[in-house]
Amino acid sequence: METLISLVNKIQRACTALGDHGEDNALPTLWESLPSIAVVGGQSSGKSSVLESIVGKDFLPRGAGIVTRRPLVLQLHKIDEGREYAEFMHLPRKKFTDFAAVRKEIADETDRETVVNLTLVDLPGLTKVAVEGQPESIVHDIENMVRSFIEKPNCIILAISPANQDLATSDAIKISREVDPRGERTFGVLTKIDLMDKGTDAVDILEGKSYKLQFPWIGVVNRSQADINKSVDMIAARRREREYFQNSPEYGHLASRMGSEHLGKLLSKHLEQVIKSRIPGLQSLISKTINELETELSRLGRPVATDAGGKLYMIMEICRSFDQIFKEHLDGTRSGGDKIYNVFDNQLPSALKRLQFDKHLSMDNVRKLITEADGYQPHLIAPEQGYRRLIESTLVTIRGPAESAVDAVHAILKDLVHKSISETMELKQYPTLRVEVSAAAVDSLDRMKEESKKATLQLVDMESSYLTVEFFRKLPQDAEKGGNPTHSIFDRYNDSYLRRIGSNVLAYVNMVCASLRNSIPKSVVYCQVREAKRCLLDYFFAELGKKETRQLSSLLDEDPAVMQRRTSLGKRLELYRSAQADIDAVTWG
Ligand code: GDP
Ligand code: MG
Repeated sequence: METLISLVNKIQRACTALGDHGEDNALPTLWESLPSIAVVGGQSSGKSSVLESIVGKDFLPRGAGIVTRRPLVLQLHKIDEGREYAEFMHLPRKKFTDFAAVRKEIADETDRETVVNLTLVDLPGLTKVAVEGQPESIVHDIENMVRSFIEKPNCIILAISPANQDLATSDAIKISREVDPRGERTFGVLTKIDLMDKGTDAVDILEGKSYKLQFPWIGVVNRSQADINKSVDMIAARRREREYFQNSPEYGHLASRMGSEHLGKLLSKHLEQVIKSRIPGLQSLISKTINELETELSRLGRPVATDAGGKLYMIMEICRSFDQIFKEHLDGTRSGGDKIYNVFDNQLPSALKRLQFDKHLSMDNVRKLITEADGYQPHLIAPEQGYRRLIESTLVTIRGPAESAVDAVHAILKDLVHKSISETMELKQYPTLRVEVSAAAVDSLDRMKEESKKATLQLVDMESSYLTVEFFRKLPQDAEKGGNPTHSIFDRYNDSYLRRIGSNVLAYVNMVCASLRNSIPKSVVYCQVREAKRCLLDYFFAELGKKETRQLSSLLDEDPAVMQRRTSLGKRLELYRSAQADIDAVTWG
């Protein structure tokens, strides 16, 4: 029993310490599932006295009027030598062994504002009228507060009724019946049996004949005000109480189940049963909570390393996992890389098609360029210059689609970088690093794009700089038209001659275009895609190596809210784990 109670106290105190039932409470609380004991009853009915005698020490303020103005939470701890000390929820770590000091702290705390929760609750007495100096609402306020405590299904109610008043007027019975109609968690306690009118007795009540409860009624004789004034101690008071029942002609037959000591034992037994019945539920609640905490903690990621090496390692690791995700996008493990192929397979060919070389090589244009190239002297055999100009001016238009392919792939890569950034869980934790990595990756892509543009346009320009002579040599030489120097100048510029030149050039340009259609993607992949896969963050890493601890720290500056959350989750997890270990020890041990 001792272990069970101390287990409950441990868990309950730990929960309270963590503010488990404070505002910031997304997690289920242990609080709700653990039993507490509260005393209820009218003012001066003997509540504090009863609680005190269960605990066995003098420390709750007692007297006429509302002394206990609000719930007090108190725990008792046993220490090795058998000496006891009290500890308040509102004063963690402060141990009171001097029970006079405990009494003072209660009185002081009663005047302070904080509301604390409890293991044993000494509730203020229920009243019927507001006395001088009290607000009218006090009667209801107290009643509501008391009710809020005892309506919790895990609250064991000690309903205190003074024997020197008619039971029919008992506030304790009235309110406990309201919250526990079947009396499953209510203990009826009859105080002040020694103060009953001569000639009357409480036998009917104590035998359960007047008002039936699940548990047997218990009569007690607490210390009177006179006893307290004379500082009669608890041990003496208990002895006197025992003697009172044993020697009383009315209660002698009930003596074995009367008195504070018996009440204490009864309560312990009941508490034990309640706790035992709650253990499986508690265990599953705890393990569920542990799971939730672990999930959230792993979602929040690891805490930041403290030394420079650790920080650098962390950053590199995070970057590596980003890089990995980025590669997966390109390789097809994740989506998006296929868009690049679409540029080569679709966008580039259709852009090339839209160039419409045949329009460029219209008769008029051919004539214009050929004539211009001739200058003041018409060509003699073949319009060499004219051919070159026609070819160059057509090929140069391919630069446009080539550049567009570079830009399109660049846009896709940038998109994949952003996608990968947001898919890198570890980066979520560090907003600054996220921004920096993303900027560094985009910078690299920009540099690669420039390189790619240079190389790709060079491919196009190279085609203009040197023509494939064989192509023209293989063309059928028509001696009659065009190739013959004996033709008159007028023949040389007639439509069919020009059409022939146009179609020769078109055939050549189409051939070149088909080959560029194949080589542009190679250049783009080589300069952009392959490079991005190979060394997207190389420059960033080089810069990283030069950074000092302070700068590394600023890269890993977590959102303070996240840091705080992690710490508090960690603490909670620790608490729940130790509670779990404690409970397992009780059940398996
Ligand atoms: P509370 O207001 O319900 O907490 O009641 P207290 O425990 O403060 O008791 C009120 C007064 O009644 C105190 O002076 C106690 O000494 C006295 N008292 C309580 N119980 C008994 C009892 O069983 N017998 C006698 N003679 N006096 C009692
Ligand atoms: Mg009291």
